[in-house]
Amino acid sequence: MVTPNKDLIVEYQSVKSAYFTAYPSPGTWYEGFSSQDYGNAIIEVLSRNPELPIQFYVHFPYCKIQCWFCQCYQMVTHDRDKMETMVNYLIKEMDLLLALFKKHGLKPNFNELHLGGGTPSWLPIDLFDRLVDKIGTFIDLKKIHEFAIEVDPRTADVEKIKHFHSKGVNRISFGIQDFAPQVGKAVNREHTEAEIAELLKTRHLFKGVNFDLIYGLPRQTRESLKETLDTVFRLSPDRIAFSILGNRPDVFKHNAMMKIEEIPGLIERAYMWEDSFPAFLKAGYVRVGMDHFAKPNDEIAQAKYKETLFRNQMGYSPGRFADVCAIGPSGMSRYGEYYFASSYNIPDYFEFIDEGKFPVVRGYKLDKDLEIRRDIMNKIMVYYHVNYDYFSHLYNIDFKKYFAQEIEELKEFEGINAIQMKENSFTVTYFGNYFLRNLCLVFDKLNLKYMHNIESGKVIRKEKVVV
Ligand code: SF4
Repeated sequence: MVTPNKDLIVEYQSVKSAYFTAYPSPGTWYEGFSSQDYGNAIIEVLSRNPELPIQFYVHFPYCKIQCWFCQCYQMVTHDRDKMETMVNYLIKEMDLLLALFKKHGLKPNFNELHLGGGTPSWLPIDLFDRLVDKIGTFIDLKKIHEFAIEVDPRTADVEKIKHFHSKGVNRISFGIQDFAPQVGKAVNREHTEAEIAELLKTRHLFKGVNFDLIYGLPRQTRESLKETLDTVFRLSPDRIAFSILGNRPDVFKHNAMMKIEEIPGLIERAYMWEDSFPAFLKAGYVRVGMDHFAKPNDEIAQAKYKETLFRNQMGYSPGRFADVCAIGPSGMSRYGEYYFASSYNIPDYFEFIDEGKFPVVRGYKLDKDLEIRRDIMNKIMVYYHVNYDYFSHLYNIDFKKYFAQEIEELKEFEGINAIQMKENSFTVTYFGNYFLRNLCLVFDKLNLKYMHNIESGKVIRKEKVVV
């Protein structure tokens, strides 16, 4: 473990920036993109590259219980009618896409399927089946590489998980966050080792099991986090997302349910990372990208070695896709140089679909310059290394001339030992891990005000919080 440099970490991590998992980040996409623009982008990109691998993502926005830390577009409901209505509209949105594909003779190469939210595991079985059966009419669920579902363990039992498998699911992702009872109470999300071990009796059915963990949660201490990690290592998931807490009570009213005085400060969080990183390695995991760990034989660990790993707004991919066709409220799609965001408001989302329109409210079209910058940021976040020759060759530019200003700015980071600069490359140091976003900012020429994508969608949540 190293002693985090308090002053530098506070100074740099206080700079407001995006996550840079998509660039430009979703909070900066602008209005003025229509349903027709969305359809035209699909036609343009798929006509140019009919084999383009694409992930199909379905956003189901309902949850059983509100977690206080959550920053997804979701809401709590126990109303089956609401869930059924949502499934009906998701199916209608698929019909709009299918009509477009048919009209233009397109056969998109959907090679992965991800059910996210919200809590797709909260769907009653018959509604889950309706949704998946519809997807199965245009995606061969037996042949795709990956069919993953996000599971809140409070919404599933062994039988339900076996059912997911029977419908083609081959990767299961459990939102755990922490096992310490005092932390669970502070964030309204409590899990026990026994509960998860019971669900994991089904693990032989899946090619992989993921856990989501968060550090920096209220009442979490370095000691309690160590105990949580010991529990996690006993349960032995294949992949672990280890994310830092985000807290935006101005955007997500329920975030205010976490007591600010109970949330570990920046330096305490840095120590949590310093404790945890070697613990993951000791337990046999490989670090993948910024905040994921995987067993060495897991696909994303393998992709790291093969240098095919890719990160977008949906997470890490072994390189099988970069583009995403997302349906459902708040869905974010990417087709080549285009990004699109769907409505963050369920009545509006329904209205779009009823009018026979794609529910697009914002978007972005990248020019070549922004595509290069996006690619550089991906290399920083995924490989901690940027080779100038690679970019010069790929984009037909002279990197050192093109980015002369940025290379000059990087010297500031060399000065604090965050990177090592060579004639034709730079590499992020171990200490530099704290500054990945700052390094991306060097290559961000848009200099826009960074907002959460929900904030910029002007849909600041005002609903009453339901437990
Ligand atoms: S289960 Fe909790 S963390 Fe997951 S989407 Fe729902 S509220 Fe958010």
